[in-house]
Amino acid sequence: MKHFSNFIAGEWRQHSGRTMDVLDKYDRTPIAQVVASSEADVDSAVRAASAAFEAPELDARGRSDVLVKAAHLLAERKAEFVTTIVQEGGQTLAEATREVTRAVDVLINTAEESNRVVGDMIPLEGAQGGAGKIAFTTRHPLGVVCAITPFNSPLNTPIHKIAPAIAAGNPVVCKPASQTPISCLLFAEVLHAAGLPPGWFNVLTGSGQTAGDLLMRHPEIAFYHFTGSTEVGMKLSGQLGLRRASLELGSIAVTIIADDADLEDAIPSTVRAAFAKAGQVCTSTQIIYAERKVFDHVCKGVAQAAAELRAGDPQAPSSDIGPLISPAEAERVAMWVTRAVDAGATLVAGGSRDGPVVQPIVLLNAPDPTEVICREVFGPVVTVLCVDSIDAAIARFNALPYGLSVGVFTRDLDKAFQAARRLRSGTIHVNAPSSSRIDLMPFGGVKDSGHGKEGPRYALREMTEERLIVFHNVAPRQQPC
Ligand code: NAP
Repeated sequence: MKHFSNFIAGEWRQHSGRTMDVLDKYDRTPIAQVVASSEADVDSAVRAASAAFEAPELDARGRSDVLVKAAHLLAERKAEFVTTIVQEGGQTLAEATREVTRAVDVLINTAEESNRVVGDMIPLEGAQGGAGKIAFTTRHPLGVVCAITPFNSPLNTPIHKIAPAIAAGNPVVCKPASQTPISCLLFAEVLHAAGLPPGWFNVLTGSGQTAGDLLMRHPEIAFYHFTGSTEVGMKLSGQLGLRRASLELGSIAVTIIADDADLEDAIPSTVRAAFAKAGQVCTSTQIIYAERKVFDHVCKGVAQAAAELRAGDPQAPSSDIGPLISPAEAERVAMWVTRAVDAGATLVAGGSRDGPVVQPIVLLNAPDPTEVICREVFGPVVTVLCVDSIDAAIARFNALPYGLSVGVFTRDLDKAFQAARRLRSGTIHVNAPSSSRIDLMPFGGVKDSGHGKEGPRYALREMTEERLIVFHNVAPRQQPC
């Protein structure tokens, strides 16, 4: 079993003598030991990052070059990262391969953005008192960025925070999820080999309640980039005071299927969006609102497609879906489904369970306020609900506490525009399901799904501060001869 120390100031270092096991999520055997970081570990990581910020050795071009090199090195180590993600995260081979491919892309795209950090010219002359002035804005790094990440995308989510922070000139301290820290620790090796100077990237492991909490209270951190549950996000938000943060939180993602939709496309793509990574994606379709005329067809199609999916060993190329992150989570999902059925929902597919592996579940018409439609399931469960109109679907979506992502299938332009204008959500996909992210998008939620944006260009903006520079008493423009 491999042992990882924390990666601090360019070397493997630990103060705490306590460790935590990381398990293979399918067979539950230990695969690595990591540090249960103490206050001394947290302090040492933040101080290393602060020192790097005080003595910056890299200009924007240098940072961009490091990210490009890191992308190439990550691509060279793809097989190793895929195996790690399959083991520590329970993703299937296909899902893990996609995650590494996307992460390489995010590094390249962020490297490109790092050469395009620009401000605005402000045309002051257009306002009273503005004559004879030239004004423009510039963008500047903030200081140490702390990234705290969830278990469900152990490489790409950290990279969505780490790469833009570095590109913007901010050294990073990252605390990955305790269930899946290995990908992030290995990525420290990649950045180091790519030439990132010591202190620019530090990883420390440990539980959210100890290491995470110490990071949240550390006075030398300028910006927090957090992805995780709304529950933890709200707690963090209360602790931040005036410090800035981007909070990518929970969700109940929805796909709406109108009665004019192309069902041949809508049904299979929505089923993929419901069950990829065993439903453990913040944009997983958890509810399908189907218009009455197509409701029966959609129910039948979704149930049939779900029943064809094979849940099992994520190492087996034949598996479509791997395990949930823990048997306890699988038990919780099963309990919510039982309660929904007891309250009147109809179970039309799936439901059998073997430890952490759950066969994809399709429910029809679960009544309010059952958990499967009122709380984030984060598991392989989709509920199909009948609605009388797109208006009704929009109203139901807007009544949810969350607003991260929603998909709408329709061939009617009017319905599409109604949805686009009225759905209160960070993203609205037309003719695609809720889980259709491309990594360049400005990605983030509204309401209880948080605030702030991921996506290289947008995260770079979040992690810089804007400065206004005004030149007064500027000589008038010369008249052309
Ligand atoms: P989580 O329990 O909220 O944990 C997220 C991270 O926060 C982990 O690193 C965790 O550490 C840490 N943490 C926990 N308590 C903390 C505290 N008191 N102070 C500081 N850090 C703390 O979430 P999860 O179960 O890993 O992930 C699932 C959730 O993430 C879902 O709600 C999902 O919707 C959300 N998510 C949102 C997005 C988005 O973009 N909006 C994307 C992906 C996932 P430990 O692992 O040690 O507990």
